[in-house]
Amino acid sequence: MRRFPVCACSTAHLPRAEHDAIDLLIRHAPRRSGRIIVDHPILSIEAHQYGFWVHLGFMDDWPERPDGLSPEFWALLADARKAGANWLSFDRDEPPSDRFPVFAAVQEERDPTGGTVESVNAASPAARITIRCSACGSAEVMRDAWARWDDDAQEWVLGAVFDAAFCEVCEKDATLSEQPLGGSQHKHP
Ligand SMILES: [Zn+2]
Repeated sequence: MRRFPVCACSTAHLPRAEHDAIDLLIRHAPRRSGRIIVDHPILSIEAHQYGFWVHLGFMDDWPERPDGLSPEFWALLADARKAGANWLSFDRDEPPSDRFPVFAAVQEERDPTGGTVESVNAASPAARITIRCSACGSAEVMRDAWARWDDDAQEWVLGAVFDAAFCEVCEKDATLSEQPLGGSQHKHP
């Protein structure tokens, strides 16, 4: 029998949109030979009763953070990998660590009317932001993403959002900047 190290981490450290997207994938996962296949575009995920396992072997192929993972998610995976782990278990019963930010209420059961995945900034609802084109300041900007049909919500729900962005005013690929909503319109360089 082979021994290998694992890490455990509270699901509260996962950004809410990403946590919800993975829960949705698990909920709608197809089965192959009776086993749940969690069809994440980057990660190998195994669902368990209190959360899910993420296999860390993909980091051999992705020494830099892939676009589909947030810096917060990546920091958790990288920390576990650095500790020598092969798997990281996200577990709602694991106490949060003071080394990582905590995102609100991820362990709650989702409201059956759905629709929480778009609350990208749920960690700090007071600090609402807008996203603008760094070149022209327009809000007419888009990002590449994938969505999945949700039978319960009866709508397409957002999965991952990628870094690639487009400005409709510039009519070309754009760099985006975050600005406080209703605050200064100062552009980040
Ligand atoms: Zn623009």
